[in-house]
Amino acid sequence: MAKIKMTTPLVEMDGDEMTRILWKMIKDELLLPFIELNTEYYDLGLEYRNETNDQVTVDSAEATKKYGVAVKCATITPNAARMTEYNLKEMWKSPNGTIRAILDGTVFRAPIIVKGIEPTVRTWKKPITIARHAYGDVYKGSEMKIPGAGKAEIVYTAEDGTETRELIHNFKGKGIVQGMHNLDESIESFARSCFNYALDTKQDIWFATKDTISKKYDHTFKDIFQEIYDKEYDAKFKAAGIEYFYTLIDDAVARVIRSEGGYIWACKNYDGDVMSDMVATAFGSLAMMTSVLVSPQGYYEYEAAHGTVQRHYYKHLKGEETSTNSVATIFAWTGALRKRGELDGNKELMEFADKLEKATIDTIESGKMTKDLALITTLENVTVLNSENFIKAVRENLEKML
Ligand code: NAP
Ligand code: MG
Repeated sequence: MAKIKMTTPLVEMDGDEMTRILWKMIKDELLLPFIELNTEYYDLGLEYRNETNDQVTVDSAEATKKYGVAVKCATITPNAARMTEYNLKEMWKSPNGTIRAILDGTVFRAPIIVKGIEPTVRTWKKPITIARHAYGDVYKGSEMKIPGAGKAEIVYTAEDGTETRELIHNFKGKGIVQGMHNLDESIESFARSCFNYALDTKQDIWFATKDTISKKYDHTFKDIFQEIYDKEYDAKFKAAGIEYFYTLIDDAVARVIRSEGGYIWACKNYDGDVMSDMVATAFGSLAMMTSVLVSPQGYYEYEAAHGTVQRHYYKHLKGEETSTNSVATIFAWTGALRKRGELDGNKELMEFADKLEKATIDTIESGKMTKDLALITTLENVTVLNSENFIKAVRENLEKML
């Protein structure tokens, strides 16, 4: 069979630890034998980020703006322990944070549903897609430790020099403060990305904040969503037979648990971070969650929702066998290849992505899976495969389909 050609490069962002190992296996076994893979490669592994003073991360985000579609491997966000482990010049920021700040946009995360992996929540029948606002709030916050008695205020200085002040607290002793921000423009694009994604996927969309307590900050999110919905989307939603629904975050949490799924849950940045891990875990596994950053200009960055699986990597380094689930990373590639195909009118590439996804799901449903899934599956007589053999089993299925 002739290899599938690609006209436009895909931005490839390599990463760290166990996922970097899986990355190479996926390319070698599932992509390179079938596609003339055309990528512009950026090494976001921590060593090279350190070497380039993190410039490589910025360059990879800029390349995403140029070509439109990227696929990213999980990366280490340095902490104190990593400073010593990698002998870092600086505690570099989270690459995802940097990329999101450059591309703006919204992160959509949806579980990959397979027979035999049943959600912990009995009522859930369909996927719940979390739409996470990817800009600002606590991720772009400034913080201060208050050493003792004194007054803390928020000060806004307009360009003409006039000041507006709001008291945070009159401290009597030690404490802490935090200042965070968001931008109307970013919230507007968040709203539009969510409404567009709802129309694209024909699903209802829920949005929730704590506007009863946060009467200016969270309330602004609520107002902007409502305004944009009323002006631009109401008619389109009615025509598509879908709904926009706003409620308080605590009410949303209760409703989500009682629901049967099948909708998009739009969350502010922090809520989306936390809730997507909860939803992923309750659907079966963090390793079965896809994630895509969609920018308001229509740039796409696909990745797995989990981290670099450090514990497995250390086992791998010791020469021990690992059974790390590569499904979310495979789906990051298929998502990116399908989108690239869609934008380039490359039908063959889109069909390949569909087949690779089907081959992956079929492999699990036939009882061949990694250990994390074997522990929770309702299927009987399963075969637990190591990291490499799972990918090889997917390849066998894929070859039968091509
Ligand atoms: P993690 O890599 O997601 O792993 C947490 C645990 O979840 C693992 O120890 C493993 O459990 C299980 N797990 C996650 N993915 C799995 C997979 N594909 N297959 C099988 N089991 C899987 O999170 P972490 O340990 O908190 O973070 C490790 C590093 O990843 C950190 O340096 C962090 O900064 C980074 N991180 C990156 C991203 C990103 O790039 N998007 C996201 C999150 C974290 P068992 O050990 O019990 O098997
Ligand atoms: Mg998180």
